[in-house]
Amino acid sequence: MTIPVNKPKDLFKKCFDFTLADEVKAQGLYPFFHPIDETEGPVVSFAGRQLVMAGSNNYLGLTADPRVKQASINAINKYGTSCSGSRYMTGTVNLHIELEEKLADYFEKERCLLFSTGYQTGQGIIPTVVQRGEYIVSDRDNHASLVAASIMAQGAGANLVRYNHNNMEDLERVLQKIPESAGRLIVSDGVFSVSGEIVDLPELVALAKKYNARTLIDDAHAVGIIGKGGRGTPSEFGLVDEVDLIMGTFSKTFGSLGGYVVGEHTVIDYIKHNASSLIFSASPTPASVAAVLATLEILRTEPQLTEKLIANTDYVRQGLLKAGFTLMPSRTAIVTVLISDQIKTLVFWKKLFDAGVYVNAFIRPGVMPGHEALRTSFMATHEREHLDKVITEFCTIGKELGVI
Ligand code: PMP
Repeated sequence: MTIPVNKPKDLFKKCFDFTLADEVKAQGLYPFFHPIDETEGPVVSFAGRQLVMAGSNNYLGLTADPRVKQASINAINKYGTSCSGSRYMTGTVNLHIELEEKLADYFEKERCLLFSTGYQTGQGIIPTVVQRGEYIVSDRDNHASLVAASIMAQGAGANLVRYNHNNMEDLERVLQKIPESAGRLIVSDGVFSVSGEIVDLPELVALAKKYNARTLIDDAHAVGIIGKGGRGTPSEFGLVDEVDLIMGTFSKTFGSLGGYVVGEHTVIDYIKHNASSLIFSASPTPASVAAVLATLEILRTEPQLTEKLIANTDYVRQGLLKAGFTLMPSRTAIVTVLISDQIKTLVFWKKLFDAGVYVNAFIRPGVMPGHEALRTSFMATHEREHLDKVITEFCTIGKELGVI
């Protein structure tokens, strides 16, 4: 055996060299992983201090709804706390089937398949349907989970090509280059998660038809917000039949945890029997599924919640625009304020936090340099006083930091 003269490289060197988080902590500006002690509607408590939550994806505020909570409690009492196995084997309970049937019906598609998270949903669909030699055609601003799923497919021999964000001319340029003999899937967020912008779905679907591409829309931030009765982006444009696969998450409007995909029965059946993230991972808990069943019922019967959410978001958007902030283009429940500077974003975030407003700071590597921003999002359960507090604190700090 030869003994190396120099010690071979330690795999963990990169971890020891990673100092960014500690540096930001030392400056007292660290915006991540702050534990909430208690939640009361849109007000949360940090170390006993109350803050207006203006960064949650709990869009309809249903995680706190007594009917939703009770549904979870009832499910735990009936089925226990976990299914302790994959849907494929021993982890399917009646509630999974009931929810799949009800979601397929709600989204007006033939079949639905549940996953344990939204992240795993993309991982289940993309590498399963796009195989060696085939093409994923992906918007450059797609959610990180879709990017990770696409890279996974690429590792198994699929081709990943990207087009400029929501730019249909660029999408066509990319589609033109794909050999006719290869299958192709266009993948896009319905509502983009950082900006809240809506995809140009009519044009995307027209190009899919022209180039015989299949389509996957991730509607995580659209359900409960746009479309008929909150049915999301394809419904918003009257294009439910034209989109092949629609996926989403339960961690936002549905007030729970898990994910789903809806589409035609043969494709859903294929994914069901081949998706690694479904077959080799435990099924969504009974409590999570029961919460979604309760939320879905509320979504069907209380459209006023969506109306209130949109009115709340518009109120904040108008307030911030009037004050002179630069916002990303959105008419959904996301209002993203461009700061365009990393330190200023962190300082702004900290000052808002100290003033009693909790938002999300988007810095590198989450966004490109120059695109640093504060992402706010609103709930149907915010009242005027909460929204006024958000606008007032933004304006005071914005002036102080020279942002407006
Ligand atoms: N897709 C999009 C567009 C998302 O925004 C998110 C979550 N932020 C996910 C997928 C992942 O969903 P989950 O939280 O259920 O894993």
